[in-house]
Amino acid sequence: MTTRRRFIGSVVVGAASAWTGARWPGMLSAQGARRRISIAGRPVTVVDMHAHCVIPVTEIVRGTPLASSGGAGAPGLVLGPERLEAMDRTGVDVEALTINGFWWYAAERALARAIVSAQNEGLAKWVAAHSDRFVALASVALQFPDLAAEQLEDGVKRLGLRGASIGGHVNGEELSQPKYDVFWAKAAELGVLVFMHPNNAQNLIKPGTLRGRGGLDNVIGNPLETTHFLSRLIFEGTLDKFPGLKIGAAHGGGYLPSYLGRSEVGCSRGNTPCTNTKNPSAYMRSQVIVDTMVFSDEGLRHLVAELGASQVVYGTDVPYDWPVTVDLVLNASFLSDADKEAILGGNLKRLLRL
Ligand SMILES: [Zn+2]
Repeated sequence: MTTRRRFIGSVVVGAASAWTGARWPGMLSAQGARRRISIAGRPVTVVDMHAHCVIPVTEIVRGTPLASSGGAGAPGLVLGPERLEAMDRTGVDVEALTINGFWWYAAERALARAIVSAQNEGLAKWVAAHSDRFVALASVALQFPDLAAEQLEDGVKRLGLRGASIGGHVNGEELSQPKYDVFWAKAAELGVLVFMHPNNAQNLIKPGTLRGRGGLDNVIGNPLETTHFLSRLIFEGTLDKFPGLKIGAAHGGGYLPSYLGRSEVGCSRGNTPCTNTKNPSAYMRSQVIVDTMVFSDEGLRHLVAELGASQVVYGTDVPYDWPVTVDLVLNASFLSDADKEAILGGNLKRLLRL
């Protein structure tokens, strides 16, 4: 419950006003007040870039090799009233929804078209019913780059989606390969965000390497896949080819921002035929957006120091249980009020055209 106020420096945290929950058609009234975030007395909009969901497509995959996929997935992924209750409780005003399993990258063309169509129509329908609380990024069938470009354009122009959600590879293939340029070109032409969410580094790790205690496929594999993905786009020249491209990277951009200095000098050592025209940090500070999922004050400080507050956005990984709250940003002594507002929502408001 958020009925208390806390004063931290000039920052007021808390839910000042009770919220009845009757604003959304078809929504039951949520229990408890909606937490409203303000900085120095000014209300800010908190936008979450990292919000998983699922639009079930069980009927479409029935009788196909992908019949075991396309269901509800983990608890909380299918959108319902409890999603709004959780947002109210945690002070998230807007979620940018994405479907991130990418299991449909294994589908043949007609099936992939049908799956993605159902997903994007489903996303658009949910967003239309709750337009003040959600936007969504389009699923695409990236195994068919031309189709993916078409799906992105349709999602943005016809369905009002705000960008694309993609995996870090397509069935093991690097996305810096020229065959994917048709998709990157479309994203750059539309000027929309492409959010990449990794899938346990299945392209990098031999089966079983990270099995065992500690959930290492997730804990190490996901940030590793993101690091690899971003490094490829930088060093293979994809970000040079499409300077208008904006890439959103989950989990704080993986390990890349934490060891950016190594990447920075990588190309100057004479034995690496890099094609990038700028230092990696230049791309990270302009074309790459990362979320705040670093959990510690020091992690966030370092992320902002390396990339700049303009490249860091709020992300929660909902509905998975990571210890994420807006307070990490609100209480950060090293951030100005303007930086806090930009990170919590200002940057995404611009990128997602809210
Ligand atoms: Zn996630």
